[in-house]
Amino acid sequence: MIFMEIGKYYAPETLEEAYNLFVESKDNKIIGGGAWVKISLKRVEKLISLDQLKLDYIQENNAYYEIGAMTNLRSVETNENIKLIYSGILNQAISNIMGVQIRNLATIGGSIMGKFAFSDLIGVLLVMDAKLEFYKLGEISIYEFLDLKKIPEDILLNIKIPKRDSKGYFKKVSKTHLDFSIINIAISKGKNFIIAVGSRPGIAQSAINTANYLNSQTNFTEEILDKACDIAIDELTFGSNLRASKEYRELLVRTYIKRGIRQVIK
Ligand SMILES: Cc1cc2nc3c(=O)[nH]c(=O)nc-3n(C[C@H](O)[C@H](O)[C@H](O)COP(=O)(O)OP(=O)(O)OC[C@H]3O[C@@H](n4cnc5c(N)ncnc54)[C@H](O)[C@@H]3O)c2cc1C
Repeated sequence: MIFMEIGKYYAPETLEEAYNLFVESKDNKIIGGGAWVKISLKRVEKLISLDQLKLDYIQENNAYYEIGAMTNLRSVETNENIKLIYSGILNQAISNIMGVQIRNLATIGGSIMGKFAFSDLIGVLLVMDAKLEFYKLGEISIYEFLDLKKIPEDILLNIKIPKRDSKGYFKKVSKTHLDFSIINIAISKGKNFIIAVGSRPGIAQSAINTANYLNSQTNFTEEILDKACDIAIDELTFGSNLRASKEYRELLVRTYIKRGIRQVIK
């Protein structure tokens, strides 16, 4: 087994110190839960832990649920308040990731900053219209984050989920429970539809034209749903990899977008 070599380990007590260490050199890295970093990096000069920065919390105010970036996935998954919003899709998406041991370790911040194409969370956060708060960059939407060409050299502090009276749907299709998604689909419906498809095999993408089309409809007949699926296939890009072909992914999207729409309009 290959282990990551670490020059020096730091656990700063202020954000400023953590940030300054991070931007000092490209060879310095931040560690969240470390589940991914430890298997993907060979050598790090300065490894900067965020453990001491009090970024492990789930709290709420009138407008948002706020999840600290260092909150582990298991804590989000089992949080009773988070289960109540968007039909519990964030909890469902997390509960499909590996085993409890990994979910106890991996953080929500690391799950976003990895910008993983296979991510089951990014699509869910898209349809929840989540906002991300960074130390230097300030607050940006998850849409803006995905549009950035590079992952920002910054520290993600927290994730804000707007409190809306929306229903949600999430589906992960994978060969086994422990495998990455072949495709994942997230849909929310409050005033409007929001639809995101991930692991296409690219990172989650929002199906904006499909949502606009559905938002202009009042009667969701089979024909309307078929047309919505045509628009989704047309506007999203799909590809083939070792997990599945482009054609199979498109078939899955047709099936689950329809099921998802039916579920959120009930
Ligand atoms: C074996 C395995 C299987 C997995 N399967 C799935 C799956 O099926 N579906 C899925 O969605 N996910 C899956 N994941 C990903 C997992 O859910 C986490 O997203 C991943 O482990 C990253 O979280 P972490 O806390 O471990 O981050 P780390 O490994 O610590 O960090 C990941 C990246 O984010 C950066 N980072 C971490 N926190 C911050 C921060 N606050 N600010 C700035 N940068 C930061 C790190 O520098 C690094 O670049 C899997 C992971 C593993 C190890």
